Amino acid sequence: MKSTSLVRLAGLMFVVLILVSAAPAAANDTGASKAVGRGGGNVDCPADNGNGHAYGAWEHNWKCQCAIPPAFSEVENLTIDTAIIESTPHWIFLAAGTEEKDALLDYIDGANVPDKQKNEWTQFVRKMWKEYPVVFDNSTGNPALVPGRSSDEFTLTPAENATFQEIERYIAEDMEAVRAGEITIRWYQQPTHMQFMETALNSEIKDLSDILINTAKDAAWVPDTWCNDQVCQSWNHGFIPTSIALPNIAGIPVLIVPPQIDGIGDAPGNFGQYATLAKQRFDSHDYSGAFTNMGYASHFITDLGNPYHTPMAQIIPLEQVNTPYSQIVFPNFQMILDYKTLHHEYEGMVADHWDTFYTGDQGRYDISNPTYSAKIHGTYSWAMSYPLIYNCYWHFVINGDFDFEENPAIVAMTQNRIGESMKYTRGLVEYVTGGQYPMLTVTATAGPGGSISPSGAVPVRYGESQSFTIRPDSGYVIDKILVDNVAVTRNPYTFSSVTADHTIEATFKELTGSGKEWIWSRDGWDGWSHEATWSGTEVGPCSEYGPVIVDGHGEHGINVNLIRGSTTACVEKQFTDASGNGWNTLTFVGLMTASDTLGGRWMTIEVNGQQVFAGTALQVPPGDDQMFEISVPFPQSDEVNVKISHGQNPAWNPRFAMHFYSLELSRNAGLMTSEVKTTEFVVPDGSIIVGNETVPTPGTMSTPEVTETDSP
Ligand SMILES: [Zn+2]
Ligand SMILES: [Zn+2]
Repeated sequence: MKSTSLVRLAGLMFVVLILVSAAPAAANDTGASKAVGRGGGNVDCPADNGNGHAYGAWEHNWKCQCAIPPAFSEVENLTIDTAIIESTPHWIFLAAGTEEKDALLDYIDGANVPDKQKNEWTQFVRKMWKEYPVVFDNSTGNPALVPGRSSDEFTLTPAENATFQEIERYIAEDMEAVRAGEITIRWYQQPTHMQFMETALNSEIKDLSDILINTAKDAAWVPDTWCNDQVCQSWNHGFIPTSIALPNIAGIPVLIVPPQIDGIGDAPGNFGQYATLAKQRFDSHDYSGAFTNMGYASHFITDLGNPYHTPMAQIIPLEQVNTPYSQIVFPNFQMILDYKTLHHEYEGMVADHWDTFYTGDQGRYDISNPTYSAKIHGTYSWAMSYPLIYNCYWHFVINGDFDFEENPAIVAMTQNRIGESMKYTRGLVEYVTGGQYPMLTVTATAGPGGSISPSGAVPVRYGESQSFTIRPDSGYVIDKILVDNVAVTRNPYTFSSVTADHTIEATFKELTGSGKEWIWSRDGWDGWSHEATWSGTEVGPCSEYGPVIVDGHGEHGINVNLIRGSTTACVEKQFTDASGNGWNTLTFVGLMTASDTLGGRWMTIEVNGQQVFAGTALQVPPGDDQMFEISVPFPQSDEVNVKISHGQNPAWNPRFAMHFYSLELSRNAGLMTSEVKTTEFVVPDGSIIVGNETVPTPGTMSTPEVTETDSP
């Protein structure tokens, strides 16, 4: 959260600092309250009992006297008593262990100020530590810092506050200078936001389409581009609860969350708004919209997991110091912090150490009221904002850098916030999707006279494909196939990588006149003449294949073993309509066997010497190695010669065949003679088609199959 939202905080009451690694105990957000879990104290308990120490403490877990930890800012789950915080805005300097004290003295010693100033500051802080001592107390098992004097003796004078403020301002400016030399990625911008979304999606939905994962990931950081000014940014990406006070009991870090949480900042509302939109879009099968809005929503819930977005701080951001605005808004004894730098460096540090902070599957929170859930999440982060600032601040003073990942207390808090944010992000995915894989519907209908398979409301997983086969009943032909109300000619029709709902609708028309049906499985090859030719250099046996009946269909073609060759095969039969009415429509169901050179694999159908259908395997129909059905008109006649040819050019080996299922000659009363067109088609010229095996390497050639023929 940037400075401007901190400005908004100025009117807030100071509240208790609780240094805890807050872990909500309840696994859902429907309850009215949550307890903050207590981590065990992480205090060294050395064998020597530290009896001689002024503030030696009874260590609850180890049941022994313990030495005071040298660095308070590295103690996990440390509680700092309210009385210390209320004694001065500069309580951070009082809440110092021996390591922090030494570091501050060294820091002052190295400061770029006149020696006189250094001496004054050094003497001043020594005096403050003596007059306002703090005691490390671990007697309850919860490490805490408490005042070493009664609270009426524990309030700093305005002059003392003013001197501390000078030191704070110097440190804030130094932070700015150190940061200027570093390039950082913002945590809650791209990398971390995208990590949350991707991990949550993969945790909640098995094998989700990459398209949707990327849609949500790419949206997850986008809200950071929506604001140009800091007021808008802070307001929209942060939250500060105003209706909650932390209990003023040192060592009992319990945060009671009421059913209603008021606060400043729109991040919870933004989360609620985009989560709701995402759910609506999901329910209406607009998955692109659903996952985009889910990404936006995830941004705000993960922002709310960052205590720098939920500041419990009454501080003057460095950039506000000495502005007329700060004179009005801030009491002149407030902390001065380079909040912006701490915020950004912290975020960059997390982005660089994701594997340290995201410790794996911890389940999810079920969300029923997204805005309220977001407020709860933000409230726990808020309870950690002072602890986090305390630790980050001392880390800088001690080390002069922003490598916060080296501080165990910061690591523990961050792991908690990342873990909690992930549980809420997973809750968001569950809220939007109900845990369901995004499904689409293709509605398939067939008019009278035929069928479509499958039919009805056919469910399809997002991104997957679905084929539909249309079959006319006997005495009918396909009239139209409409896909989303646009006519298509492919049958079977395949919707590939489906991303939206679709419709497919088939209509049929009745054939009139006495039809003639030839079904190869029933009728065999009686009366069909056949021919097969090939050319090129023979490098092995070549022969006509078939015609035969195999697996309930007819087959005919050529077994070849050629270099620079081509093949042609045809079958032909004469049909007579005894009724004398004649036919004008030919319907054929067949399959051209597979080819490596689709442009050179071809077929034609001629009726009474006129070509009525032609195509290569590049076109569908006929397609490559797929069953197809075509229905073509021809000039009406009661004497019909049907010739079906196919071939391959260039051809090498081993077999090029055609499969024959059924042929139907019929009369379509509605067919106008003018509709009959001759298909312009030229049999492919192999010399201009580049085949990957046009010249086979000797020795790698396959031996052609020898199949028993069943010539009529
Ligand atoms: Zn941020
Ligand atoms: Zn943000």
